Amino acid sequence: LFASVEMTPGDPILGLTEAFVADTRPGKVNLGVGIYYDEQGRIPLLRAVQQVEQKLAQEAKPRGYIPIDGLPAYNLATQKLVFGEDSPLLAAGRVATSQTIGGSGALRIGADLLKKVLPNAKIAISSPSWENHRVVFASAGFEVVDYAYYDAATHGLDFPGMLADLGKLEPGTVVLLHACCHNPTGVDLNAEQWQQVVELVKERNLMPFIDMAYQGFDEGIDTDATAVRLFAASGIDAFVVANSYSKSFSLYGERVGALSIVGRTRDEALRVQSLVKRTIRSNYSSPATHGGLLVSTVLGSAELKAMWEQELGEMRERIHAMRAGMVEKLAAAGAPHFGFIQEQAGMFSYSGLSKAQVDRLREEYAIYAIGTGRICVAALNRANLDTVVNAVAAVSR
Ligand code: PMP
Repeated sequence: LFASVEMTPGDPILGLTEAFVADTRPGKVNLGVGIYYDEQGRIPLLRAVQQVEQKLAQEAKPRGYIPIDGLPAYNLATQKLVFGEDSPLLAAGRVATSQTIGGSGALRIGADLLKKVLPNAKIAISSPSWENHRVVFASAGFEVVDYAYYDAATHGLDFPGMLADLGKLEPGTVVLLHACCHNPTGVDLNAEQWQQVVELVKERNLMPFIDMAYQGFDEGIDTDATAVRLFAASGIDAFVVANSYSKSFSLYGERVGALSIVGRTRDEALRVQSLVKRTIRSNYSSPATHGGLLVSTVLGSAELKAMWEQELGEMRERIHAMRAGMVEKLAAAGAPHFGFIQEQAGMFSYSGLSKAQVDRLREEYAIYAIGTGRICVAALNRANLDTVVNAVAAVSR
């Protein structure tokens, strides 16, 4: 039966990790990852999360199913984080939120749902985007097109190109937007640019789909949600937000995310929620208990939430410090043209390193990065920064 099945190409990032693990050279560094590591090079287990886990272990509760659309407390707390405590949309009951299997689950359920409502629509994603965006929406039956985003010459945003491309899309096209900490480039829009995008999207009748996988990783919970807040304030009838707690709670394998769909009225949101539930039911039936309980318990306690915000702030500050340290040390090592790394945001930077330079980093210096030049700034620490800087300076000469 399966004789005709050919080997499907693996994920290039996971392939890189395998090569890294097999590398026996001391002092090797993996900048190819998509995970936040702490100063000791470990994936942190947040103190707030640990406290809840201890409590849950003591309570030793049975594990029944949770509702199809997840824990109500989780969804309520998510809405407040994503849309803001005082959001008029929430007060009006216009947002339908469902706990999902990570941010990826939110993207897929959102894609399946939009395919039912807008069967002929295309989706536009940034060039470049997180590669899974293309795969998820294509699997849901969408034709995927690109809009201009990254400007290799400036290592920044091609904002005129972005506006021009968005302006050419047919009405009803779904537009995937990264709320902050763009993956893979680290290049974000500022608030004025967001406002222009909001106006264009509204005028052209496009369907915004915001992916917020790194809320709190750049400036803070509310500032990083600027795109969501501006769309919410714009009077637009409908938009979608997929958010993930994988990074902000350091709960990657617990698969915690949520899908929020904004409708025109409370009644519309209720009807949409019923369709979301049907979509989840036919997909994976219901989300997972443990991660959902961790997040909702932290967010539901003023004390634990404050502790989490503090820890999130520490992660964010460490990323900023690594960006600043890298730029300063590269300049001192004779490579002053990397200043843009400090302008970029979040875990990733498009470093501008070519494929040949990335190959040299790996072969000569045991430093692993992706062929596109994407590096994970959150994999840097005080112990490996000099090694990385010296190698990057050497291959950049
Ligand atoms: N969107 C973007 C832009 C991401 O970078 C990621 C995670 N790499 C996700 C969504 C999915 O997150 P999760 O692991 O929660 O599925």
